[in-house]
Amino acid sequence: MKPRPFLKALMILIVSANILWGAGENMPKKTICDLHCDTAINLADGRGIGGAAKKSQVTLEKLKSGGIDLQVFACWVSPKYRHRKAWERSRQLISAVKKEMSDHPDEMMLVRDRKSWQECRGTGKIGILLAVEGGHVLDGDISLLDSLYEQGVRILTLTWNNSNRFACSAYSVHKTGIDKGLTPLGRKLIARADRLGMHIDLSHSSEKTFWDVLEISRRPPLLSHSCVNFLNGHFRNASDKQIKAMADKKGLMGINFCPAFLGDKYKPKSAESVADQFEYIKELAGTNILAIGSDFDGIRETPEGLDGPDKLPHLVQMLRSRGFSQKELDDISLNNALRYFGWQ
Ligand SMILES: [Zn+2]
Repeated sequence: MKPRPFLKALMILIVSANILWGAGENMPKKTICDLHCDTAINLADGRGIGGAAKKSQVTLEKLKSGGIDLQVFACWVSPKYRHRKAWERSRQLISAVKKEMSDHPDEMMLVRDRKSWQECRGTGKIGILLAVEGGHVLDGDISLLDSLYEQGVRILTLTWNNSNRFACSAYSVHKTGIDKGLTPLGRKLIARADRLGMHIDLSHSSEKTFWDVLEISRRPPLLSHSCVNFLNGHFRNASDKQIKAMADKKGLMGINFCPAFLGDKYKPKSAESVADQFEYIKELAGTNILAIGSDFDGIRETPEGLDGPDKLPHLVQMLRSRGFSQKELDDISLNNALRYFGWQ
């Protein structure tokens, strides 16, 4: 029996509504956190991320189209800056990020605690969390940690590739074979960070530094941009034992997209090799520690199909196709980070 014309029209209307509804479902929702990008150096060098930003992997448009609602801006200070100059450089980078936010007040805002995060979510802006990468910026002066905190910084990456007066780096151990871990001054820094509420990021730290911090810190551990040593034996990647300890201590580990750190099951440059990292950790230690720590603008090459924050929803889809549940995907995309920061 043929449907009558008005029924046919009704069916077309229902089908159209479904298509429109489906399209709405596919629009990026703001549900993604990235624990690490190095875009602050571009900003300090006068390359804004809005408008005609061509040289940055992270741009405002890409953050928006990827549905990023929390982006950590790491202020990486090259070891070529020493002593007072390293401190001045960190201030310059922080100012550059803050200027970018003040240039785009309707689109970005500084997030420093639960209250400002909730305010940010209410407005629909992209929350920006400040980190400083490289403990050498303090030049051994622990009181400067308080100053970073006052400036809104909430994460300190304890070392970069260079060791400093607080701790030994993974790169130093790679070069010398000697792992001194945390120094006595480093122990004082961790105690101060714990009291302040500054999160200590152990990406780039040596393995002994990692264990020393886990032993004395009251806070769960953070690896903001690291990968799995079992899949790629790069000196900077975390061992199975470290990853399991991260889970035991309710820590957080952002997976880095740097091709040099990724496995070679497919091609080291493929997005599949990023997905492998998530799958490996899920099997080893569960999904509660997992997050994204792209390292965009800190890596020259990116995996194919993952060249900016606008592509992060593709990674989530890839994980979905590998059997990750919706709850696991929500946790990895954002909720694990919110739990870690205490903002849920
Ligand atoms: Zn780094």
